[in-house]
Amino acid sequence: MTTLLPDIRERRAIRRLDPSAQNRIAAGEVIERPASALKELVENALDAGATRIDARLVDGGRTLIRVADDGEGIAEAELALALERHATSKIDGSNLVDIASLGFRGEALASIAAVARLTLTSRTAEAESAWCIAATAGRVEPIRPAARDAGTTVEVRDLFCATPARLRFLKSARAETQAAVEALRALALAHPAVAFRLEEAGEDGAARVLLDLAAARGDGAEARLARAARLVGEGFEASRVALDETRDGLALGGAAGRPEIARATARHQYLVVNGRPVRDRALAAAVRAAYGDFLARGRQPVYALFLDCPAAMVDVNVHPAKAEVRFRDAASVRSLIVGALRRRLAGEGTASRRGAGPAPAAEAPGPASLPSLGTPWSRRAGWGEWKPVPATRPTGFAEAAATFAPAPAAALTETDAAGPPPEADAPEPPLGRARAQIHDAYIVAEIADGLVLVDQHAAHERLVYERLKAARGRHGVERQALLIPEIVDLGAEAAAVLDAADALAALGLVVEPFGPGAVCVREAPAILAHADPAALLRDAADALLDGEGADGLQARLDAALSRIACHGSVRSGRRLTLAEMDALLRSMEATPGAQWCNHGRPTTVRLDRAGIEKLFERR
Ligand code: ADP
Ligand code: MG
Repeated sequence: MTTLLPDIRERRAIRRLDPSAQNRIAAGEVIERPASALKELVENALDAGATRIDARLVDGGRTLIRVADDGEGIAEAELALALERHATSKIDGSNLVDIASLGFRGEALASIAAVARLTLTSRTAEAESAWCIAATAGRVEPIRPAARDAGTTVEVRDLFCATPARLRFLKSARAETQAAVEALRALALAHPAVAFRLEEAGEDGAARVLLDLAAARGDGAEARLARAARLVGEGFEASRVALDETRDGLALGGAAGRPEIARATARHQYLVVNGRPVRDRALAAAVRAAYGDFLARGRQPVYALFLDCPAAMVDVNVHPAKAEVRFRDAASVRSLIVGALRRRLAGEGTASRRGAGPAPAAEAPGPASLPSLGTPWSRRAGWGEWKPVPATRPTGFAEAAATFAPAPAAALTETDAAGPPPEADAPEPPLGRARAQIHDAYIVAEIADGLVLVDQHAAHERLVYERLKAARGRHGVERQALLIPEIVDLGAEAAAVLDAADALAALGLVVEPFGPGAVCVREAPAILAHADPAALLRDAADALLDGEGADGLQARLDAALSRIACHGSVRSGRRLTLAEMDALLRSMEATPGAQWCNHGRPTTVRLDRAGIEKLFERR
């Protein structure tokens, strides 16, 4: 399983690395924000064989980060060395290829001590008492006796007090807390046999529990899946495919979510390599490739994957914060992931991909063999006559827009279809009259000078989005109380979602606290009466919490609304009546920007008569 130091071991002494070893270690900034300090401290606790790790934050970690463990402790004589740069008990410097611990650089404690007020209190099992050493902005004080059981507590106060310029790069306390929670979740996933708890103290001093995980028995496949079920998010356990495949010394375990629980962001993707959580673009791309067209565009798979291999097969000394690794044979890792995942997903039935084209063969050799369904055929060679409806509105469009009154409730069947039947002598509308639906996904409409083809899902999504946006601008999105309030388990994200309650209410979602880690959805956008409120909330929350500080609030609200709109839209694969299709076309004519979907793809292509005649070589 994990290649951490074995349970039965000699405590190794802390020693200074010699200069040549120092030079071979990937250099760079380790402590960028509270989350990186927390990560380093928790890694140390794990390397020390802790079975339970308790962490506490105050003010997003700016004021205090404290990590206490029940690990092997540090001997009195080595306490000062622990704070020295390039001093470590984990490697002797002779071999940087075969690293079995999470830490090895001997820099974390020194780096933190250099920019904050740090106290390190520790006791080994054999020692008669605990000892404590403190450092402020790099100035180390003499050690003194202290009280605690075997194990180590590190307290970091006033991070970056010695480098105030760094403080300016920190985000809000909420965002820093969120990042810290993410870091801890990833480590907790990687180490299911260890109990974790993270608390945050509020201004009133009351503690809020952000994460509380009991130790699983062992760290085998079952323990991993159980912990993943707690961490990856609601729905994961019920909708996942488990993986268990070994090839050439490389083992792939864990699980990946079925396409229907895909999310709007990549935040719910975990990859653990030899007990180390890593972010790896190439491997993430491999996973995405394995899903291929099982996933709609813009959706992100949810997964918790574990790769285990001999330590020498992977280089961990490539990134200062150890967030990336390099496989000696990256191609075989990639092919193991793609092959195993695709086989499992393909074997899971195709219920979620109605209308999405032929299923990939179960033993498809590589991602290139998947049909590329994303290419709009309007752009295929030889079909130059097909083109998106021009962005300039045809005559009549502006007038139609002026008379358009947004419907109060817009489930397509109920409202869009309720319009009067087209009159025979009315002037021809720009998008024509619906004549047919093909593949349960596209509307074929006839215009005097040709025909128009509409992607029903993309079009409806845009309409819902524009309506929601207009409503938000006027008086807030209209809400409707749910008959049965929906309880949504959000784990550590619950607090952040509740903090954003006002913003969510403006988007039509009214949430309330509901015990630890859960919120209760009381009201949902009226326009989306049929959507699943839990999925709505999760997507809206993802958008609101994502990239905090990067975009303005307005942009995040728009993104959240766009995702909400997705839920209310007619899917491809739904059969529509001619009246419903006409209603959709009329709404499109009245909605600015309706020729593009929320993701910027065209919703409509037009083939004019001359183009048709050319195809048949009549011209
Ligand atoms: P590294 O983890 O790379 O060795 P650190 O600066 O993080 O470097 O820690 C320095 C040394 O202090 C470690 O090698 C370890 O011996 C000791 N140490 C740090 N934290 C703990 C802990 N929680 N329990 C036991 N020993 C620890
Ligand atoms: Mg360390």
